[in-house]
Amino acid sequence: MSCIMIGETTQRAKKEHRCNWCGQQILVGESYLRSRVVFEGEPQTNKLHLECADAAAEDYREWGEGYMPYENERPTKAPAQHEAGAAEGGEGEHGQ
Ligand SMILES: [Zn+2]
Repeated sequence: MSCIMIGETTQRAKKEHRCNWCGQQILVGESYLRSRVVFEGEPQTNKLHLECADAAAEDYREWGEGYMPYENERPTKAPAQHEAGAAEGGEGEHGQ
């Protein structure tokens, strides 16, 4: 798998796009990251919410490979506090 980054720009959406990371809409007037890559010889333009671009970059640092488009979770915009363990460790339900 080869993926060559050509360039990234931050732009304001003039029309609606679909975020390549979370699959949600990028609304008109919203800033988004436009990233141009050559993926396996095919030039592509990926559009991502800015926070999704951060998440994608982090994912890449961690795993060093591409991600599944449209199937990732959009990070909440304001990274206020971490909700520790809200979505994790929900096992161990016994009884009834
Ligand atoms: Zn997104």
